[in-house]
Amino acid sequence: MIILLKKDAREDQIANLTEQLKEMGLESHLSVGDAHTVVGLVGDTKSVDVDMLKALEIVESVQRVQEPFKQANRRFHEEDTIVELANGVKIGGGHFQTMAGPCSIESEEQIIEIAKAVKAAGATILRGGAFKPRTSPYAFQGLGAEGLRLLLKAKEETGLPIITEAMDASQLPLFENVDIIQIGARNMQNFELLKQVGKMRKPVLLKRGMSSTLQELLMSAEYIMAGGNEDVILCERGIRTFETYTRNTLDLAAIPVLRRLTHLPIFVDPSHATGDAKLVHPTSLAATAVGADGLIVEVHNNPPKALCDGAQSLTPNAFATMMKDVEAIRPFAYRG
Ligand code: PEP
Ligand code: MN
Repeated sequence: MIILLKKDAREDQIANLTEQLKEMGLESHLSVGDAHTVVGLVGDTKSVDVDMLKALEIVESVQRVQEPFKQANRRFHEEDTIVELANGVKIGGGHFQTMAGPCSIESEEQIIEIAKAVKAAGATILRGGAFKPRTSPYAFQGLGAEGLRLLLKAKEETGLPIITEAMDASQLPLFENVDIIQIGARNMQNFELLKQVGKMRKPVLLKRGMSSTLQELLMSAEYIMAGGNEDVILCERGIRTFETYTRNTLDLAAIPVLRRLTHLPIFVDPSHATGDAKLVHPTSLAATAVGADGLIVEVHNNPPKALCDGAQSLTPNAFATMMKDVEAIRPFAYRG
């Protein structure tokens, strides 16, 4: 349920209202926008007396929110959420960022060389997997805690903030100096993990499950936000279809649809969406054009020798060329 307040509502009147709502057992989320001030209510609002609320002097209107996602809903929060990293990098609300790096961290030389190269090409956040969700138990599983140590070293060396995936809550204590926790496609509905990252005060990049609807993605974001962590970045990374020429099918329409439904930043991963380095450049441009808030791209200094996802990894040179085109297209991006 949302309560739209009149423009001239005073702070003390708003405080009185939220106190009254609290006594009714309701948690309220205040969002002050340019056009309106909105009080969003979460919890069981069935017994709320709408007429009583409407009668209050400062209330303009009261609406029930039909969608099951509340805190992630744009109706709760009209303006785009801007996620700010510890070093001041802003994500969303017109602040476009590119995360780039290898699928997995393989060695100190590898991650530092790639970190320097992607930074020089304009990436603002370094990616690299330490805990890898691999389809085969016999495939390289990532360097684990040692990989995280090397990623932190690359952060120190380049000043780039870092993003890496957590597959299990038991790994989270190692993430203290990680800037963004990635929740992978396979864990999008690992509700226990979502609850745990919801308790943290650290940005989370939540990838869409490969067979998940946008509503399911938003409900997973809601799990994180329900724990008090409002810094959620959504990521479209391709979904499973009958097509076999690409690893997944990039759902480009998801970006403007999500933009309408939610205030959270929306990223696109063209690497996992296509599985083919040759398709990363064109799909990155398309994602930028439909209004993505940023990209997360796999880059490797020696793709044929990569321990994971080499076929979809760009060389640093190809990445630099792509970044120039992404920059050129940005002024024309659709924002709805
Ligand atoms: C990754 O980013 O390396 C990854 C495994 O992605 P996804 O969860 O989208 O498959
Ligand atoms: Mn990968």
